[in-house]
Amino acid sequence: MRRNKNYTGIDFARFVFALLIIAIHTSPLASFNETGDFILTRVIARTGVPFFFMVSGFFLVTEYTCGNGRLAGFIKKTAIIYIVAILIYIPVNIYNGYFSMDNFLPNIIKDIIFDGTLYHLWYLPASITGAAIAWYLVKKQGFAKALIISVILYITGLFGDSYYGIPENIPALKSFYSQIFLITDYTRNGIFFAPVFFILGGYISENRSQLSFGKNLCGFMASFLLMLTEALILHGFKLQRHDSMYIFLLPCMYFLFNLLLFFKGKRLVNIRTLSLVIYIIHPMMIVIIRMCSKLLHIQKIIIENSLACYSVTCLSSVIFSISAIALWNRYKPFKTKHNPEKDRAYIEINLDNLGHNVKVLQKILPEKCKLMAVVKAEAYGHGSFGISTHLARMGVKAFATATIDEAVRLREYGIKGEILVLGHTDIRRAYELKKYNIIQTITDLNYAEALNKQGIYVKAHIKADTGMHRIGIDASDTEAVKKVFNMENIEVCGMYTHLCCADSLEPEDILYTREQISSFYGLIDTLEKSGIKIPKLHIQSSYGMLNYPGLDADYARAGIALYGVLSSPGDKTVIDLGLKPVLCLKSKVILVKQLKKGESAGYGRAFTAERDSRIAIVPAGYADGVPRSLSCGRGSVLVKGMLAPVAGRVCMDQLAIDITDIEGVNTGDMVTIIGAENSGAGAAEVASCSGSISNELLSRMGTRLPVVFS
Ligand SMILES: *Cc1c(COP(=O)(O)O)cnc(C)c1O
Repeated sequence: MRRNKNYTGIDFARFVFALLIIAIHTSPLASFNETGDFILTRVIARTGVPFFFMVSGFFLVTEYTCGNGRLAGFIKKTAIIYIVAILIYIPVNIYNGYFSMDNFLPNIIKDIIFDGTLYHLWYLPASITGAAIAWYLVKKQGFAKALIISVILYITGLFGDSYYGIPENIPALKSFYSQIFLITDYTRNGIFFAPVFFILGGYISENRSQLSFGKNLCGFMASFLLMLTEALILHGFKLQRHDSMYIFLLPCMYFLFNLLLFFKGKRLVNIRTLSLVIYIIHPMMIVIIRMCSKLLHIQKIIIENSLACYSVTCLSSVIFSISAIALWNRYKPFKTKHNPEKDRAYIEINLDNLGHNVKVLQKILPEKCKLMAVVKAEAYGHGSFGISTHLARMGVKAFATATIDEAVRLREYGIKGEILVLGHTDIRRAYELKKYNIIQTITDLNYAEALNKQGIYVKAHIKADTGMHRIGIDASDTEAVKKVFNMENIEVCGMYTHLCCADSLEPEDILYTREQISSFYGLIDTLEKSGIKIPKLHIQSSYGMLNYPGLDADYARAGIALYGVLSSPGDKTVIDLGLKPVLCLKSKVILVKQLKKGESAGYGRAFTAERDSRIAIVPAGYADGVPRSLSCGRGSVLVKGMLAPVAGRVCMDQLAIDITDIEGVNTGDMVTIIGAENSGAGAAEVASCSGSISNELLSRMGTRLPVVFS
């Protein structure tokens, strides 16, 4: 996902926490002060592993991600790292006599699943189990219940960890924990310890704390001090069996993580890998440093001085890790990037142009009026994922789709703002509307009544019919509209209407549109007078914005204009914004053929050469969005900057063009089927040749085409 970008604070913290974890294994202050060492390694540094769990949860566990693909990806990646780490440490295991332990098989299974084959490796299986449990809980139960369950697991773990002194004196509990300890050496594992942090990370990614930086900082300091006190008391009373889990670790991590989110800026991808490699490799460095200092007889300087030992371990781990990453980047297996040159045909999306269109459209809207991006039909064929996530990053907070399935998919892409379904949704899907926080259009009174009867509280916008005479409650039927406002399970948070001839500048169409607009405002006035609180309003779609700018509304629903094209070539609009087309449809010549005068080509012999001719075959057809109605010269494509007419019929997967008059066309030459405006192959122009408008042309773009971003 692209949204995991730019959390500089988190990236930087990964490095700091990796160094803190080294402290746990080297005890830097041990030679100086025992309490100081306890505080550093058993309290402060204990935030490290929870932090890493939270980072994974932050990017992985969200309520809107339904498919299991991302979880599977995470588990696979972590498992590979774990296997590699196990292999790397086999020599150390051999040296430690690991393979000659009693009950080898049950023990090694236990280690692989819970404890790690070397002490620090437990983190990896715990990540796998923790992620899976957290994912499952959030999917099945939602965040609130998932958090409660994971906290219960955590508390169970707590009493096998820092608080073990308590259950140890209660026989029933003691035997409960001794059963647990048969299977796993510690309770700080993937079952009791990790899930709560994964869920907390995911929760924060969806519900950013509204607290200011200062309040988060106070929260963090207070909970840290409480955790410190807690740890010192438990330590003092010798209640601890192990020291990874504290009650105040939870609020402490919550505030700390929110604090780190305030730091945004550059993406530090390499630091992510670096911190992981440091984590995996540092025990190896400790072993090597011990061996080397023994050989060089410098134990006194390095090993016996804990701070020196810590510094040398950090330094060597960092140097080793950086070198290993540099080597890996140089020699890693060649990965083929998506390369449009190898595609038979592809959609090229220019996100800069999309950004330009958003900006110029926003500029003509009155201050309080926001852009609602219409991304129905795969964002008019542009690919809904790329377009909607880019828009969200640009700050667009309202989206519209035609169907509930399109809306749910936006949620799965991580889109957070308002999503309005413009079309019909079966009332039996009310639960999904609620679950994904989707706004439904009320298409008429009967529909509203049926939806209300579902007994599920949903958000809705009432559509008023002011003259389109398709869906919507008749604008003169104030009573019907009022009834909807009074329905117990429908929260009316908006009202809108749709203009049916806002694209035309003919006087009678302008008159008609003005009447539509005043009939909508008339309805609103009446409602207001009868004491109804007026929700958000919207009227204009693209041509409404361009021909009737400045209407008093809360949203404008921009569709085709967002994609930078007009519906038909030569359309005149009241304001000209210099919109830039976002999509190109490209393909290439795959072979060139000579035809003698009189020979024919393609289905139905629809092209007959009237002179000796050359035709080029282009592997894109109507299944790729090239309308069949462009056949036989009604449409043209751009090759070598010139327009070449379509020769014969467009087939499902390919078409032929007549290149007799274009010099030097060869196999491999780029062909632009839809391109820049006024090139002869602009979307509106191509659409017009096919007897349609660009809206239809674009929304029927084939789904099998790869989308590349330029
Ligand atoms: C599709 C649609 C839009 C967007 O229309 P454009 O002309 O593409 O801007 C706006 N409102 C409704 C109700 C729609 O169905």
